[in-house]
Amino acid sequence: MSATRGTRVLVLNSGSSSVKYQLLDMRDSSRLAVGLVERIGEETSRLKHTHVDSGATREWTGPIPDHEAALKAVSEELAKDGLGLDSPELAAIGHRVVHGGQSFTAPTVVDDAVLAEIERLIPVAPLHNPANLTGIRTAQALRPDLPQVAVFDTAFHTTMPESAARYAIDVATADEHRIRRYGFHGTSHAYVARATAELLGKDPSETNVIVLHLGNGASASAVRSGECVDTSMGLTPLEGLVMGTRSGDMDPAVIFHLARVGGMSIDEIDNLLNKKSGLIGLCGDNDMREIRRRVDEGDEQAELAFEIYIHRLKKYIGAYYAVLGTVDAIAFTAGVGENAASVREAAVAGLETLGLAVDGDLNAVRSDEPRLISPSDARVKVAVVPTDEELEIATQTYGLVRKGD
Ligand code: AMP
Repeated sequence: MSATRGTRVLVLNSGSSSVKYQLLDMRDSSRLAVGLVERIGEETSRLKHTHVDSGATREWTGPIPDHEAALKAVSEELAKDGLGLDSPELAAIGHRVVHGGQSFTAPTVVDDAVLAEIERLIPVAPLHNPANLTGIRTAQALRPDLPQVAVFDTAFHTTMPESAARYAIDVATADEHRIRRYGFHGTSHAYVARATAELLGKDPSETNVIVLHLGNGASASAVRSGECVDTSMGLTPLEGLVMGTRSGDMDPAVIFHLARVGGMSIDEIDNLLNKKSGLIGLCGDNDMREIRRRVDEGDEQAELAFEIYIHRLKKYIGAYYAVLGTVDAIAFTAGVGENAASVREAAVAGLETLGLAVDGDLNAVRSDEPRLISPSDARVKVAVVPTDEELEIATQTYGLVRKGD
């Protein structure tokens, strides 16, 4: 690898029709620019770019036919702010890659073999890995001389023991089709588990944390001594907690029943469980703010949806408490976890014998900073830790290219 003198890292999160990006300066982990290209391939694609220092935001709507055009448009916007991708200050580009299977346990500098392996994993991540690959290839074409680093959503979970990672199905069938629990949101779980240990003033390698990443997608993880030992998402992000639009855990026989008795096709069931279930399926809303507003108005459907959401969350807290044996902290993160005090309060209500409690005043405080919301004498701390996946991707990317110098 060539020596890197730059200190900037561009983080790219490429979806099928969108690219989110952030340019960071790793000397102080500060943001230089952030933005988003949406509706790629449509006539009304939209680019929104913010130059962080000046606070200036530019928005642009028009046809952006593909990812190559999207990245060129991003590059032009960055250049207008004197932050062009041709700058020698740029040390690397870090890419979010959703599925790294069992192959990738750490961030990896992309070469042809890495691209081929990400491609080989498409059958287990058909919605995400193709878009992630397109993002990497496009960035390579733009700056072939620059290290491109893949940071995998699954990597943090590769430390799970076989007892947690395997489903209890026929081993040969599972192995043939690479069916096992991979887990997702790993970049967030890694960041939050480490930040929680820092908040407690402890070394991550001596800290046990239950991380609850509650966004539109939601997952829990049990982290022992800094390593993931269990997580709630599985082969795909469908397993586990009740989410905005996904069902989470369910008797798999529901699928046979819907096919045999309900006459639904596999694609229809897939769509039902991933897009029309969870909170939206239960009450017609997937935004926790709206659900809470309805609960406050006495809406029984919203109340039941909230109770089902909390019941599942509580089951996972109990399960991961048992998996870990000793728990130092429970950390809430992502859109719901960081903002919904009512969810945090309800999730730990009645768990005092486990050493868990929330202080009402602390829980009501709104802040962007990591903070404790448990009473000062609590045996198990309860924390709110805003996640920062882009910073984690940039940190891992920069760490890797610096190591290669
Ligand atoms: P994320 O996927 O992490 O961006 O989280 C998005 C979700 O966070 C939204 O769908 C909302 O349900 C939830 N959310 C965001 N802000 C709030 C808030 N102030 N109170 C409750 N929920 C919120």
